[in-house]
Amino acid sequence: LLDIRKDVKIDLYDRLPFPYGLVRYGVAPDHPEVKSVTSTFEEVCSHRDRVRMFSNVAIGDSEAVRKPHSIPLEELRRAYDAVVLAYGASSDHDLRIPGENLDGVLSARSFVNWYNGHPEFKSLHEQTLNLKNVKHVVIVGQGNVALDCARILAKSPAELATTDISAHAVKALENSAVETVTVIGRRGHVQAAFTIKEIRELTKIDGVHPRVFQEELALGMTSASVKELENNRPKKRITDLINTIAAESTTTMEKKRLVDIRFLLNPAKVVPSSADSTKVGSLEVERTKLVGEPFAQKAVKDDSVSSPITLPCDLLLKSVGYKSESISSTLPMNARNHTVQNEKGKVSDSPFLYVVGWLKRGPSGIIGTNIGDAKETVATMINELPEASKHSTDPWQLLVQQRPFLSTEAVTWEEVQKMDAYEVKAGEQSNPPKIREKLVDIEKMIQVAKSL
Ligand code: NAP
Repeated sequence: LLDIRKDVKIDLYDRLPFPYGLVRYGVAPDHPEVKSVTSTFEEVCSHRDRVRMFSNVAIGDSEAVRKPHSIPLEELRRAYDAVVLAYGASSDHDLRIPGENLDGVLSARSFVNWYNGHPEFKSLHEQTLNLKNVKHVVIVGQGNVALDCARILAKSPAELATTDISAHAVKALENSAVETVTVIGRRGHVQAAFTIKEIRELTKIDGVHPRVFQEELALGMTSASVKELENNRPKKRITDLINTIAAESTTTMEKKRLVDIRFLLNPAKVVPSSADSTKVGSLEVERTKLVGEPFAQKAVKDDSVSSPITLPCDLLLKSVGYKSESISSTLPMNARNHTVQNEKGKVSDSPFLYVVGWLKRGPSGIIGTNIGDAKETVATMINELPEASKHSTDPWQLLVQQRPFLSTEAVTWEEVQKMDAYEVKAGEQSNPPKIREKLVDIEKMIQVAKSL
């Protein structure tokens, strides 16, 4: 937008004081190369005369916003010529099985936010996540988020200590009693959502033995799966790697930790621990079989296997996809996939309101996928934006008039840079030195941001 319309000025809002969203709170700490995308953010914000940052300011009027003093979406729309929603997916899907609310059952998203130092997740499940009493972890779902969680739980804390992982997570991992991490998928290995890099990484961790079971691979090789593999080089490479892992899988525990990748298992019931009925003790899973056409195979219960399989489990992570929330009752949401109804980025029946990213197309794809997505939305906007602004008053000043506290609460780009420098310095001073020591407390963030 900055490139195409030289007259356009942009204000960026973020609910949290530190921006970057999923890059900061979602990308795994041992994938620092993925975070280099923040340099694009810096480039955008370097247009000082055209771009302003107002973080620590929440937009929206729904339950999901969870912040007092937030600015209703409609008020924001009245103040600006156009508004783009880019707030992603901040909720998750449930399994809808009995026992899901027991202690020790949490979403992978919460776990990821926890190890990445999200201020709202730092004290999450303190009892469970000190990991002292966690021997067996089960992760439901087989996307890259599931493998990120498995890898972080499997790696030695020393390997992670120099990354930007939060200090509380390193401490918990140092106490960790984890012996097995079992990642279960309801469909077969050909349908698994993870990519080869993430599965290969599991084979390269010191002291960790990844396992796959030949019989489950055989069950998944339906004629439709064979068709799915035809002319599909990425899938074939993953299958080759999985077959290699299966050939090297043994039942003995030679290494410190096992990571089992299991297929064709559907979670049926979370069973409480016999020692404490408020906590998870195991997960009952049912054997499934694949039915349907290639690329549309579904997992259905395999009735030839009568008794459920029980997986011991002291921590259960649900990694079955993220879900977007609505920040306003005026926002037209798709009930089916929880995205905002839109046509090429233009929000339905909402003039000059646009959407990008996961909120637009659902929680899939890598960071780069958003480039094409954003270009499409910008192209739509360019066709519609008026030649000249309809507003004579600075929109920010207009909003501040209504809420004077915003002028002191909002965090500017210069103040974000102050927090950034503070974190990098704290990282240099930590033992061992790390990329950065993230601020995990909102009050402390504001204190640093507003310091002279
Ligand atoms: P995902 O890739 O969509 O995977 C979701 C997984 O959950 C699938 O295996 C799916 O199985 C399973 N699932 C869904 N509903 C289920 C249910 N009710 N019971 C059992 N299993 C269920 O989602 P994600 O892992 O959250 O990742 C989101 C996006 O971020 C992806 O595009 C991912 O590649 C990306 N990401 C990338 C990286 C990276 O590049 N390192 C890291 C993290 C995330 P079915 O296929 O059977 O539905």
